[in-house]
Amino acid sequence: MTELQDVHEWVSFDDPTEDRTWIFDVTFLTSNWSCIFGRGCKGVLTEDFSEAVQGCCSYGAHFTGPDDIAHAQKMAERLTPEQWQFRDEGRAQGITQQNDDDETTTLLVDDACVFLNRPGFDGAGLGCAFHHLAEANGQRHVDVMPEVCWQVPLRRIDETDDLGHVTSTVREWKRRDWGDGGHDFHWWCTDSDEAFVGAIPVYEGMGAELESMVGGEVFGMIAAHLRDRTRRQGTEVFLPHPAVRRH
Ligand code: SF4
Repeated sequence: MTELQDVHEWVSFDDPTEDRTWIFDVTFLTSNWSCIFGRGCKGVLTEDFSEAVQGCCSYGAHFTGPDDIAHAQKMAERLTPEQWQFRDEGRAQGITQQNDDDETTTLLVDDACVFLNRPGFDGAGLGCAFHHLAEANGQRHVDVMPEVCWQVPLRRIDETDDLGHVTSTVREWKRRDWGDGGHDFHWWCTDSDEAFVGAIPVYEGMGAELESMVGGEVFGMIAAHLRDRTRRQGTEVFLPHPAVRRH
């Protein structure tokens, strides 16, 4: 018999205020996945690219629409030379470009997102310039970064059936979500046990992100459900994530 692959546990419930069913990936949300940018992340190219410290920023950020672009442009205007290594390039060329599939992404400079500060930058440090902006101003990342950047590796998919009922699924970002190239990545954090090293579960560590994706009321419902189940751990055990179950 063929063995089950990538087995996850899910919970679903109806939205309290609209014609929508929510489905949440319990296995990922209760796992101890943590972003390990600069701490072992191998990047999303076809070979180990750890030393370049590009994380998942090698292809630029794919914008979700005009509002997302306008927001990024507004935030970029606030970035100081200390926070943004490629400020001159971004100002001169504009912060967006079209990729081969005619999608709008952030501008690529030196083979990665224009907002990604690289090793050797003397300013605020490595990593996303928007991240430094948010920290300097005591803001949440979700209020500063392009949408996809603060959501990864969470993903929300809305599907509407013939009768107008919406099913919204919130799950981990899979290789396939990157398009065909995702399967060629040398490494991807949600299927590597090296990234399952957090001290708290994803639904807490990414609580602000999750809340922004589903709204306060639904976030309160799923968080309470997971907290309640966690409290009962011992009598009820979450299915461990496949990335850590293999070992
Ligand atoms: S989300 Fe994953 S791929 Fe992106 S920087 Fe973090 S660990 Fe690396």
